[in-house]
Amino acid sequence: MTRIEVDRDRCEGHGLCEQTAPEIYQLDHEGELDLLFEDVPAQLRGKAEAGARVCPVAALRIQS
Ligand code: SF4
Repeated sequence: MTRIEVDRDRCEGHGLCEQTAPEIYQLDHEGELDLLFEDVPAQLRGKAEAGARVCPVAALRIQS
């Protein structure tokens, strides 16, 4: 099972993860990151990784 770990101390709400993979990452109206999945389905794993790669502060880690 794939999970996404968010380092909330690092996240600065840039939203690049959301732009890259809006099916997984969404910012709320206060710029807080919401994950749409606790456990990422296998078919979205690549998207989750792509979103993590573009984060400029390396706040996202994919675990499986
Ligand atoms: S790209 Fe990184 S800093 Fe920006 S919202 Fe996503 S996790 Fe946070």
